[in-house]
Amino acid sequence: MATSSPGLYLHVPFCSAICPYCDFAVVKSSGRQQRSFAELIAAEAEWVAGSGQWPVDAAGFGTIYFGGGTPSLLALGELRRILDAVGENFAIDPEVWIQLEANPEDVDEERLAGWRALGVRSLSLGVQSFDAAELAFLGRRHSPEEAVRAVELALGAGFDSVSLDLIYALPGQTVEGWRRNLEQAVRLAPGHLSCYELTVHERTLFGKLRRRGELIEVGEERRVALFELTHRFLRDAGWPGYEVSNFARAPAQRSRHNRKYWNHTPYLGLGPSAHSFDGGDRRWWNEPRLGGYRRRMATGQGPVAGEERLNRAALRLEAVMLALRTVEGIDRVNFKRRFGIDPATVRVVPQRLDEGMLRLDEHRLRTTLAGWALADGLALELDMEMAMVVGE
Ligand code: SF4
Repeated sequence: MATSSPGLYLHVPFCSAICPYCDFAVVKSSGRQQRSFAELIAAEAEWVAGSGQWPVDAAGFGTIYFGGGTPSLLALGELRRILDAVGENFAIDPEVWIQLEANPEDVDEERLAGWRALGVRSLSLGVQSFDAAELAFLGRRHSPEEAVRAVELALGAGFDSVSLDLIYALPGQTVEGWRRNLEQAVRLAPGHLSCYELTVHERTLFGKLRRRGELIEVGEERRVALFELTHRFLRDAGWPGYEVSNFARAPAQRSRHNRKYWNHTPYLGLGPSAHSFDGGDRRWWNEPRLGGYRRRMATGQGPVAGEERLNRAALRLEAVMLALRTVEGIDRVNFKRRFGIDPATVRVVPQRLDEGMLRLDEHRLRTTLAGWALADGLALELDMEMAMVVGE
């Protein structure tokens, strides 16, 4: 499968309850809304294929990613209907890599076998923590024991890859507490781990609690310590980080779908709030609210709520940000070919090399572990200097 084949993202907006930190486009699931959802996505696939939003001669999708929300809430027949509709309207690479996000409470042997039979090759489990108090704080619906059981069942079900999502930097979380989570994850030995720092978004329950002073976020120093612990611990245990938040036991276990976002590969998104990118300069997005999305589809308007054209400066900033977040860093020759400047030649680079934030060789400019913790800030700084050099 070519890594440059486009990716397909399918947004399933339903969750059995809304977690207090979540700022995704989600709704509390209701049987009625859920039952008609697969037909809605099928209608969108047909609309997109007929409208020219996605070129009919585009290469086949190399990855299909069911995200959300909680795709594991959909019945097997609904997932099948969505995949069939995709196949009827778009080209699909014969070796397509299908990934599905699942919550531990939805995992049992029957469903795992069903997902495998649908062609799902990679399962992402939203474990978030192995600590009962942390799970309660995060508003999750599973216990640590259920999480362990779900991971063990998934690992025995024959997927090419099983990934666990974990969240750290919770208020009051100690280095030891987080290390215990990592130790449990490593004991279970999945192929892939994603470890995200808790981000408190304004329009969430946690955002409200923060405004009232009832939720105190972890300070910058502790965040950096937890970030570095995560990378050191997992590297030493055999799961080296290949992106700021992602860790794999072997290169074959790295996320094939997310990589497309990081490389500016074209991707199509279906479902409320889904974003799409044509691989050039156009990005567009669907109506985020399920009701609005449904209405747009019912009235023949199509799901697209907005679009933007990315100019060269915007694409360059994105390219620097995305590349500095990955272990490969910036490919200097490719970057220069694309944007007319070698990022390693800007004024601030020698200083950041001396400070141990960046590493440089003939081909690539990358972050060190210390630099990785501050990757976005470094990217902004580099990009600002590049803008001055090229006279923007
Ligand atoms: S399960 Fe995931 S998508 Fe659903 S509300 Fe919680 S964090 Fe958001």
